[in-house]
Amino acid sequence: MSTITEGFLDHKIFNIVSQAAEKLGVRAFVIGGYVRDCFLGRPCKDIDIVAEGSGIELAQAVGEAVKSNVSVFRNFGTAMLKYHGMEVEFVGARKESYRRDSRKPIVEDGTLEDDQLRRDFTINAMALSLQKEDFGALVDPFGGIRDLAAGIIRTPLDPDTTYSDDPLRMIRAIRFATKLTDGERVFRVVPESLESIRRNRERMSILSKERITEELNKILVCRKPSIGFRLLDETGLLEYILPQLTKLKGVETVEGKGHKENFSHTLEVVDNVAAYETEMIAGGKLFNYDYEDGAEVQRPRTEPYLWLRWAALLHDIAKPATKRYSPQTGWTFHGHEVVGARMIPKLFQQMKLPLNEKMKYVQKLVNLHLRPIALVTEEVTDSAVRRLLFDAGNDIDDLMLLCNADITSKNMKKVERLRQNFELVRQKLADVEAKDAIRNFKNPITGEHIMQVYGIPPCREIGIIKEYVKNAILDGVIENRMDEAERLMKEKAAELGFTEKIQ
Ligand code: ATP
Ligand code: MG
Repeated sequence: MSTITEGFLDHKIFNIVSQAAEKLGVRAFVIGGYVRDCFLGRPCKDIDIVAEGSGIELAQAVGEAVKSNVSVFRNFGTAMLKYHGMEVEFVGARKESYRRDSRKPIVEDGTLEDDQLRRDFTINAMALSLQKEDFGALVDPFGGIRDLAAGIIRTPLDPDTTYSDDPLRMIRAIRFATKLTDGERVFRVVPESLESIRRNRERMSILSKERITEELNKILVCRKPSIGFRLLDETGLLEYILPQLTKLKGVETVEGKGHKENFSHTLEVVDNVAAYETEMIAGGKLFNYDYEDGAEVQRPRTEPYLWLRWAALLHDIAKPATKRYSPQTGWTFHGHEVVGARMIPKLFQQMKLPLNEKMKYVQKLVNLHLRPIALVTEEVTDSAVRRLLFDAGNDIDDLMLLCNADITSKNMKKVERLRQNFELVRQKLADVEAKDAIRNFKNPITGEHIMQVYGIPPCREIGIIKEYVKNAILDGVIENRMDEAERLMKEKAAELGFTEKIQ
């Protein structure tokens, strides 16, 4: 056993794979992310095994030994099984050559070395031997261990070859720089790689939108997503992926007055959201809400919520479209929250993101992102707070988090003051919610009820009556109780000329 890899292969599964490979007479290695993450001391539950022979046969032999189901993907020549919380993927070592017009290579059987050559980065190409005679020995032909120690992301081949063959690797390089940089280590894409990405950015055109978005999503859930977005911008990839975001760049000046630089601001907000969310998750203070069999289920959030990150990224997306200057008021972006919310379906479609309740959530947060802070500057009335709770529903905590993250300024005193006032709003929200339970508010008066009482078919007046009752409750005119709601329903219905049906 090589001493620097001591402990990396302690899990039982590695011995089992080793024995199965020996029986089949093939050499097998652990390769890629698992090896990299072991060196970095990061937990990793995905194991990639490469066999000099059939990966599928090896997987089936292992599956038999551990009595576990094996999923086989014949088209890809891969197989996967789960064992004691580990997900193990098997593939045969392969040699690849590429055509200009596709990221799908021509594949032939190959050796470990061939297989390492087709990997994206030196730090992802390290392998550990599973042979009995040198179990745990590191096979590192491109100096991955050196690059890992130096925090360097570099391609094993000439970067122009690696990136042009499969342009997805350009975003992957940026994703790894974002993901692997933490409080202790900084990872950088080497300058010749960045230049190559810039040169090859047009190659993005052969990628499917889905694959690009998948990588972008992974950047968004990182600890500090701005690292990735800055690199995407500097290399010209962002212009290709999400041009609407690059339109936020720059400051216009009229009569000596400039506005906020909205691109940097947006990235700062995304980073703030990431930091606050991590802190709140650790404190068990955030929840996810799902619907199962028609009932609402609340679960503590355990990992970043991708859609909150998207809401942060897009919260000011309509600022360029709504920007105005007037000598009296200076720069304004009136209505950017409403216009922004309206832009989202098209953006989601363009990015091949789901057009379902996740999109609606992002729209809602963008639409409401100014409301909590508006309460700071206006008088905080119970009625305004109830309306905010009603409009945000269960997403109120995420909305408050986004709004707090949106407080950025170079003037620290101003930030401090706003944050303190913001705490007052938070307190008020908690008090009102405790008293009136608005966040899951449902109008006690339903359309069916009105139709039944007055014997009328569906019509516009039903909406008017319901709205009247809802407003009265949210404004605190009546309490959220059936008897009071019923009294108001009757009042409004009489005004509209309805008489009760005699039962
Ligand atoms: P993560 O922690 O994100 O899963 P990973 O390194 O395991 O990181 P995967 O996408 O799971 O990344 O891929 C597993 C391995 O397969 C990588 O480490 C790399 O060696 C190789 N690989 C994946 N995608 C590519 C690609 N597009 N081009 C070349 N090699 C790739
Ligand atoms: Mg992986």
